[in-house]
Amino acid sequence: MFIDTHCHLFFPNFETDLDEVIDRAKNNGIDYIIVPATDIATAYKVTELASKYDFIYGAVGVHPQDCKNWDDSILKVIDELSNEKKIVAIGEIGLDYYYDYSPKETQKIAFKQQLDLAISKDLPVIIHNRDADIDMMNTIRLYNSNLKAQFHCFNGSLQDAKELIEMGHYISFTGNITFKKADALRSIVSSIDINNILIETDSPFMTPEPNRGKRNEPANVKIVANQIASTKSIPVEDVGRITSFNAFKLFGIGAKNETCFVYQLGNSLYINVTNRCNANCVFCDRKGEASLHGYNLKMNKQQEPAADVYIKAIGDPKAYEEIVFCGYGEPTIRWNIVKEVAAYVKQNGGKTRINTNGHGNVVNKRDITPEFSGIIDSVSISLNSPDIGQYAELMRVNKEMFNEMITFARKAKAYVNNVVLTVVSLDSVEIEKAREFAENVVGVNFRVRKLF
Ligand code: SF4
Ligand SMILES: [Zn+2]
Ligand SMILES: [Zn+2]
Repeated sequence: MFIDTHCHLFFPNFETDLDEVIDRAKNNGIDYIIVPATDIATAYKVTELASKYDFIYGAVGVHPQDCKNWDDSILKVIDELSNEKKIVAIGEIGLDYYYDYSPKETQKIAFKQQLDLAISKDLPVIIHNRDADIDMMNTIRLYNSNLKAQFHCFNGSLQDAKELIEMGHYISFTGNITFKKADALRSIVSSIDINNILIETDSPFMTPEPNRGKRNEPANVKIVANQIASTKSIPVEDVGRITSFNAFKLFGIGAKNETCFVYQLGNSLYINVTNRCNANCVFCDRKGEASLHGYNLKMNKQQEPAADVYIKAIGDPKAYEEIVFCGYGEPTIRWNIVKEVAAYVKQNGGKTRINTNGHGNVVNKRDITPEFSGIIDSVSISLNSPDIGQYAELMRVNKEMFNEMITFARKAKAYVNNVVLTVVSLDSVEIEKAREFAENVVGVNFRVRKLF
């Protein structure tokens, strides 16, 4: 359920009881552990640990505190060791201006050369940063999207975290987020997207409360996950699933989850109807990963389940606030299936919503809106933009589809209590103009939705 993405199991204080530490990790739901080296000697130890234990993976690199003798021969060894099968990253590398163990200039050279090595090997990097925020950000900005990094034991600003996420990197939190005086860190946890968060212990350091002061170990990554769950007010299962999926995306560890045909977000149950769609929106990932909050929603046409599979998975619909027909695709493409499932939900006292692009009448070659009557409580339609040209560009559809969508919304009003037009919060879309259009021109509700 959890992955400890940063843990130095080669430290001497694990020597006598490593097997017990590993057993405790397994008993606490830790599926995998990544052990990053700090120098050449520990890089060899990491490769030994990774070959001995199947659920341990490693990273090789030279830590900024250990790079004072940096030269090409060291880089060559890192390069060679990174070819080992279970070495999944270059790390930990970075800048540390808190201690004075290695000159800053040497740190910068070692850091950059190891970043270049990672890119040439198509490996992610594990970054250590202490008191070097400005140089760190300036260095990272030099690299393009080829670089994928974990910012381990993050202790920077919210602004930097957001910029790093924008560049596609991951922010990693350790036991220090449980410390009493860590309000600033917790506020970063609550402000950034969980889809860019990793969890770690940094064992044997950074022991979380209430064990602070003792040696840290991988089992405690559960405490870090619990802290993130309570700070973000989400179930710890979500933290486990999503951060493990993030580790899978960055390091390739573990396996992609099975396709979910139904998935829960908050108190609502979502029905993953299809990945097929008549549109091809620029912001949609249905042809890519098609994952959402750690759920794998990717499916091909052959995998699309029959109505009874959904009905069985729903069980008692009253257990949920709403049953939502959604996913990475257009649900009205399988309108007969949606109708059957929605009828079951209504017969059993539940509420239904369909999230659609509003092209259902074109897709089904007939007006389907009267069929909403009695089985659909809410219809949420992607307006995307009140500007016809921009609409067609964003969705990569003919301009006529804009009028089809508006007609669909107007007609739906006769059969459904709650019709909502939505836009994705993109910088290029004029939100207020869209609201005015939805509310005053079409006469329906309006909502800004997040990008998938
Ligand atoms: S309409 Fe929805 S499912 Fe279809 S491409 Fe656009 S965002 Fe994806
Ligand atoms: Zn570190
Ligand atoms: Zn470390």
